[in-house]
Parts: sequence; structure tokens; C-alpha cells
Amino acid sequence: MERLEEACEQARLRGNCLGLLYLDLQRFRQINDTQGHELGDLLLAEIAGRFSAQVEPGEFIARLGGDEFMVLLTDTRPAAMAHAIERYRSSLMAPIRLSERSFSISASVGAALFPRDADTAQSLFQHASIALNHAKQDSSRTRFFTATMADELHQYEILQLRFSEALAKDKLSLAFQPQFSLKTGKLIGAEALCRWHDEILGHVSPATFIPLAEEQGLICALGEWVLEAACQQLMTWERQGKPFPGRLSVNVSAQQMDDPRLAEHIQRIATRVPPGKLGLELTESGLMRNPEQTVRVTRALCRAGFSLAIDDFGTGYSSLSYLKRFAADTLKIDMSFVKDMLKSSHDHAIVSTIIAMAQTLGMLTVAEGVEAAEQAEALSALGCTGVQGFHFGRPVDGDTFAKQWL
Ligand SMILES: [Mg+2]
Repeated sequence: MERLEEACEQARLRGNCLGLLYLDLQRFRQINDTQGHELGDLLLAEIAGRFSAQVEPGEFIARLGGDEFMVLLTDTRPAAMAHAIERYRSSLMAPIRLSERSFSISASVGAALFPRDADTAQSLFQHASIALNHAKQDSSRTRFFTATMADELHQYEILQLRFSEALAKDKLSLAFQPQFSLKTGKLIGAEALCRWHDEILGHVSPATFIPLAEEQGLICALGEWVLEAACQQLMTWERQGKPFPGRLSVNVSAQQMDDPRLAEHIQRIATRVPPGKLGLELTESGLMRNPEQTVRVTRALCRAGFSLAIDDFGTGYSSLSYLKRFAADTLKIDMSFVKDMLKSSHDHAIVSTIIAMAQTLGMLTVAEGVEAAEQAEALSALGCTGVQGFHFGRPVDGDTFAKQWL
């Protein structure tokens, strides 16, 4: 950091440009973990040697720690920086041979320029680091800093901050989408869906805020909030003399499933609601993360009286043997198959197979995303039990739901 500050000062005095490259090795941590730190250290020393051999006059290289290196380029331009990046990256082209083994290592590079991208050493460092994060997700593995990157990051930080506030201050809400029996046409249940309307940002989609909650470690807190709000709504309908006839389902995240005592935690939150009124939806991919644990957790939930559905079925990779061992009684057919089932014989075959398999296993089926009467007819002909979708009812708030459906 001292060298960087000095170099920035020099560049300022001389009116030059200063370039900063932030290099990060790909897959290094994995090699360190699988091959041991001793070999990892040898590998780092070899890479440091190759990088050092590339240093030209006016350049300064340092290892920051771990598998991160930085190169300072005095009096440079973007085109010259691009050449320097190429030089350092290609020094890793030849595999590294260590203790009879050969390792292929490559580096991601983020680059930033003083004074174009930053006016202090600190912010130059930060911006090279932001560029590096973009580089890691880019196929070229190299990115120069742009102002848009900083804007996006800033927007994302605002979003994170406002979301955690909304969750803490009870500013989220639930919408309820009805589910009907295909045989009788009667209401059999509803799915509680979380909604976030922010005073400044407006409506923020769950597709945005759920990954955000996962990243912030707030997904379990969000899951608990949804469960609590769903229980409160059930009691409110009861008080209003409009009891909810079926089961109200809430979505349970994969991270919640990591909790071996999930059943106890859910029971503690849902004390004032009969467990038979509550359904839990677990995504197929979430269930298969740790299938043995899932078997135990789902059985405990089932013993506690909750009913379980496997959500987005058909998009994950369940094994059939587990399907029988998970204590779920319902498969929710993913809307992507329902959407095209009348146009695509392939999707029709998938829907029909899921329904036939559920019947054989003694499970119910609920098709999601049913938007047309023709789809409902086709599903009914295949023996599907329940439906959910715009054709039958959109997600609405609790009062509207009571007026419309209870
Ligand atoms: Mg769901």
C-alpha cells in the first residue's frame, strides 16, 4: 500500500497514468485443500517466480496474501496494460510440474487506471478489486474497471441494506395464490408468496430478493418470517368467520433444510395453528443437497403433522429411491412443463410421466402455472390432482383472498 501511495503521488506530480493489475489464481484453493498446504506453497512459489520473470522496467509486483498478486505499472496506457496482462497470464500457460504431478493454473485479472478510474490509492485498489470480481465471472477472465461496475455495486449495496431493514421492520407482505381440486373444482389450498414493496425502489421481485437474502445469510430469518405471517393470516381468517378449508403452503429454502432440528423450530413458530393446516414446499434441488439429512428432517416434519410437497418437480435430479423415502405427499409439477405441454409432445410426456409416477407412489400432484382452460383439461385427463395458476386465480393479499375464495 505504501508503494501504491507513492506511485500515485508520482503519477500525480508528473501527470502520468498509473495502472494497477489485481491477479487472482483460479482453482488454487481447491488444489490447496485436496493436495495439502505444503504442495500449495510450492505451487505459489513457482507461480511467484514465473510472474517475477515477467517484470519489466517501471513495473512492481507484490503478493497480497493467499493466491492474490498485484502489479503496478508506472506511466502506462490501457493498450500497454492489456499487453502486460497478456504477458503475466501467458506466463502460466505451461503446466507446473511438482512431485510427479502436473498442474494447470490460470489467473483472473482486474485492472484499473489512475487517475482515469480513481483519484486515490485506496480507491484505485478498490476499483481493481471490483474489476477482478467481474473478471472471475467473465469468460475472458480479464476486465478493466468501468463506472457502471461501481454503480451496480452501489445499487446492490442499497438493495441489501433496504432488504435487511424491510425484514427487520416487518415491511414485507404475503400474497396467497389459490389451489383447486381438478375433480371437484373446490379450493384445496393456497401457496403463500412473499412480496416486497419498497417506498423508494418500488416492487422488488422475489427473483431478486431471495438470492439477496441467501447471500446475506438472511434466508432462514426470511423463512421464519413467512411462516409466522402465514400462521397469523390463518388465525385472522378464522377470527373473521372465514376459516381456510385446505392447507396453506409456505416455501422452505435449501438452507433451512440444513437445520437438523427444523421440525422443532417450525413447531415452535406454528404453535397456534393445527399442523394439518400447514404445508411446506421444498424444492427438488434443495432436497437432494444432503438427501440423508432430508430423509430425517422430512420424517420429523411429517410426524409433527405437517404435510410436505416437492416444489418445481422435474427440474432437479431426484433419485427415485429417495423420492419414496422423503416423507412428502405431493409433487408440484414445475410450470415450465405445464406452459408448453399442449405444444410440445416432449413436455406433455414429462407431465404425464410425473403424474403416473406420483400415482404409483401414492402421492398427489399439483400443477403450477396453469394459465388456460385447455391445460386444465389436459391435466385432468392425465389424472392430475390439483392446479394453481393465473387461469384459476392470481396471488392476492389476505383480505382479497377471503373475499374471493373463502
Ligand atoms: Mg413453491
